[in-house]
Amino acid sequence: MLGVLVTLLIMPISGYAGKPLAAKAMEIQPSDKVLLVKYLTGEFDVAASPEFTLIKPPLALRSLYIRKDVLQAYKSMQQAARKVGVNLLIISAFRSYLDQRKIWNKKYKFASLLTETDDERLEYVLKYSAPPGFSRHHWGTDIDLNAVSNEYFNTGDGKKVALWLDENSEKFGFFKVYTKSRRGGHLHEDWHYTFYPTASKYMLLYMNYVKPVHVDSFHGSHLLSIDEFFFEYVFNINKIILSRMSIDGLLE
Ligand SMILES: [Zn+2]
Repeated sequence: MLGVLVTLLIMPISGYAGKPLAAKAMEIQPSDKVLLVKYLTGEFDVAASPEFTLIKPPLALRSLYIRKDVLQAYKSMQQAARKVGVNLLIISAFRSYLDQRKIWNKKYKFASLLTETDDERLEYVLKYSAPPGFSRHHWGTDIDLNAVSNEYFNTGDGKKVALWLDENSEKFGFFKVYTKSRRGGHLHEDWHYTFYPTASKYMLLYMNYVKPVHVDSFHGSHLLSIDEFFFEYVFNINKIILSRMSIDGLLE
């Protein structure tokens, strides 16, 4: 049901490219906003959502949920890569709020062994992880490919994969999110790709609705200024994505 709701909310917006978005967003009723925020932050039953499907090995490292439109585009990209001897593997796709909370809290506890203060702990975990509710993986539009390690992409097969993705992924709608050239924010990640056609609309909705609403408690959340966090992390992504969103009329 939530999936249907979000389809209804998202689809008209794609036809509104170039028009002021705030006006369109205002049309969402308060009761729908609660559901929308839950959807955007991974708090829904993904198995019951018609927009999502389950993928398994050999397509993915393990059983994972992903949006169907993202999977269709991914398969085209994967087949094109395979033709030239480049093997792609999805190692992470959709993550629920609870999945992300587990990852966050585990890393935060680990950071406690290495650091002295809560501030240092928070900084450590934020290098590569978003707090629950703030991960792009909640949208089912973002995927991690092959290995969660920049070293992997520097040599051998990994380098071949990185070079091919750099050259070709955008033709299939996939953009690297955490690029090297940014300052601050999450560190550079060679493995994390977003499916722009859908993720850009999710991001727009996220910017409109999640920001003031969804502040929950997790390890270290008391230290986080949510406005600064959005500016420093959530919107600190590949500038090509932001400029495309601007061209598409999704950003002012
Ligand atoms: Zn990722």
